[in-house]
Amino acid sequence: MTKSIIIDAYECNGCGSCMEICPEVFAIDEAEKAFLIDSEAEITDKVEEAAAYCAKKCIHFE
Ligand code: SF4
Repeated sequence: MTKSIIIDAYECNGCGSCMEICPEVFAIDEAEKAFLIDSEAEITDKVEEAAAYCAKKCIHFE
């Protein structure tokens, strides 16, 4: 089964690093939490890089 990108919004601190690395998939909402622009986005190298650089380690693949 294909994995999905999951953001733990509770842990997210809204730093914006994911959006800087991969703006086609991640954005920050008014509450300063990351969200997925496309909930069915593919896990590309950029998405994996964003997850790796997330200081809160709150981007998961499930
Ligand atoms: S890099 Fe992590 S902590 Fe920063 S906005 Fe993105 S999901 Fe949130």
